[in-house]
Amino acid sequence: MLQKEKEIGLKAVRAAMAMTAEIQNEMTGGDTLTKSDRSPVTIADFASQALVCKALGDHFPGMPIVGEEDSHSLRQPENREVFAKVAHYLRQYDPAMEEGLILDLIDMGGDEPDGRFWTLDPIDGTKGFLRGEQFAIALALVGDGRVQLGILGCPNLGADPGGTLFWAIRGRGCWRVAAGGGIADPVRASAKTDTTQMRFVESYESSHSDKDTQLAISQRLLISRPPEQMDSQVKYGIVASGQAEIYLRIPNPATPDYREKIWDHAAGSLIVEEAGGRVSDVDGNQLDFRTGKTLARNRGILATNGVVHDRVLKTIAELAARQKK
Ligand code: AMP
Ligand code: MG
Repeated sequence: MLQKEKEIGLKAVRAAMAMTAEIQNEMTGGDTLTKSDRSPVTIADFASQALVCKALGDHFPGMPIVGEEDSHSLRQPENREVFAKVAHYLRQYDPAMEEGLILDLIDMGGDEPDGRFWTLDPIDGTKGFLRGEQFAIALALVGDGRVQLGILGCPNLGADPGGTLFWAIRGRGCWRVAAGGGIADPVRASAKTDTTQMRFVESYESSHSDKDTQLAISQRLLISRPPEQMDSQVKYGIVASGQAEIYLRIPNPATPDYREKIWDHAAGSLIVEEAGGRVSDVDGNQLDFRTGKTLARNRGILATNGVVHDRVLKTIAELAARQKK
């Protein structure tokens, strides 16, 4: 089941990992543009989306792709040099990548979520990417309102110089392999039950969650280590592989109407669940991937090793009740 989707997806994400890692090493200030929501987008975001869409389009024609990026800014005359760099990197992987094709490939990711579809974050954690830190390439297949296949490439995670690649198929477990290849290992979440020994991860960017409340919750849980900050869905990979027990993302009070994007959570959430962990929103509801490009019916995210999930949910609720008083 989903074997072809897994094989093609892994190959595409692996290529995107190598390409984006190379770009991260060679990046200069002029390689970044600013989107209408004021967030950054780099030559690597565009090149990665084109590369992955090429593979998906060739092997699964007609299957919708819901990707984060579009080609609008690359089409602007003032961004010619940026576009030329995107093309330069892509041609190292596929000499047939001429400019018109690249724009079309990026825009293949412009579909609306409907039925069975792919969702792609070509560079999740662009801000971490720009700092030279963690980022991920996240690809998932959604069907029946749930994630069926999740692939997460983490170029800066683990001992292998190319990073770590995780994947999970619903009901079939979670696996990890060094990006350079080798034998895949099963991935299991931590079995720790003693909260004082637990490790707690959260976003690096302060504006993406509520760090004060997250700290208060970790203290109420008697976690002795301070929360560790890192960018992107690498946090899900860390929880899935037993390197942390809790990833908490409480909505930032400054952006109460923000809704999580499906491509920011689809791949990672299945990876944690299939590793034996649990994922819900901060109210304990299952993530609902039937509501378009955002998780409109969910608020925030909680991913844990499973053991501690209900306890964290209870602590979140208790603290919220206290804050209301
Ligand atoms: P992370 O590094 O875990 O914070 O995840 C990065 C993602 O956070 C980006 O891909 C954005 O889509 C998302 N993001 C941007 N603004 C917000 C916000 N106000 N609240 C939550 N997530 C956000
Ligand atoms: Mg993202």
